[in-house]
Amino acid sequence: MRLADMHIHTTFSPDGKSSMEEQCIKAIEIGIPIICFTDHVDFNSSEINVGRIINKASTNFDVSEYFYEVNRLRRIYNSIQILIGIEFSEPHLFPTEFEDYSSMPFDYILGSIHHCYGSVFPGAKNIEESKAIDEYYNLMLKSIQTCEFQAMAHIDFPRRYFDNWNVSDTIMDEILNAMIKKDIILEVNTSSIMNASDDVV
Ligand SMILES: [Zn+2]
Repeated sequence: MRLADMHIHTTFSPDGKSSMEEQCIKAIEIGIPIICFTDHVDFNSSEINVGRIINKASTNFDVSEYFYEVNRLRRIYNSIQILIGIEFSEPHLFPTEFEDYSSMPFDYILGSIHHCYGSVFPGAKNIEESKAIDEYYNLMLKSIQTCEFQAMAHIDFPRRYFDNWNVSDTIMDEILNAMIKKDIILEVNTSSIMNASDDVV
């Protein structure tokens, strides 16, 4: 078995603190032979990071620059395998955009849910915990049923916001069965229970 970190954000993401190059150096230092950059592609208006627009003043990144940088680092840090991916937020809400990104030569697309009720989870002020969690998993199921991506990111995401993370077995069974049916990988993401040194959102 070889260790791989398949969820890494860099300064191409609004929440990334380290550059791609710093991440490569760190991976070599700590002995991770496979890494995959999964910077945010987010069309939700509250956290837009849609790529392709060259505008250094904003959070948008340029996809061609993204590929260029990965290819440059692959030549320098050839002792590790560097994969290129994205984390696409709420793919079911942006099917055209999702198709567009799916047609690009990414090695890996993570699907994820970060928003409920149009804003960052829990999405509405003073919302009842159980209602927000139900909504979160309904959206997750919808994204799995409607879109083709390789892995579902951070299945316990609401746990970062609510101490008593309770999710019904019924919806979780539905989600896991839908994932099995479509060969979608369940991501092992420890950021809910650890203090990650880099943001893993
Ligand atoms: Zn995420």
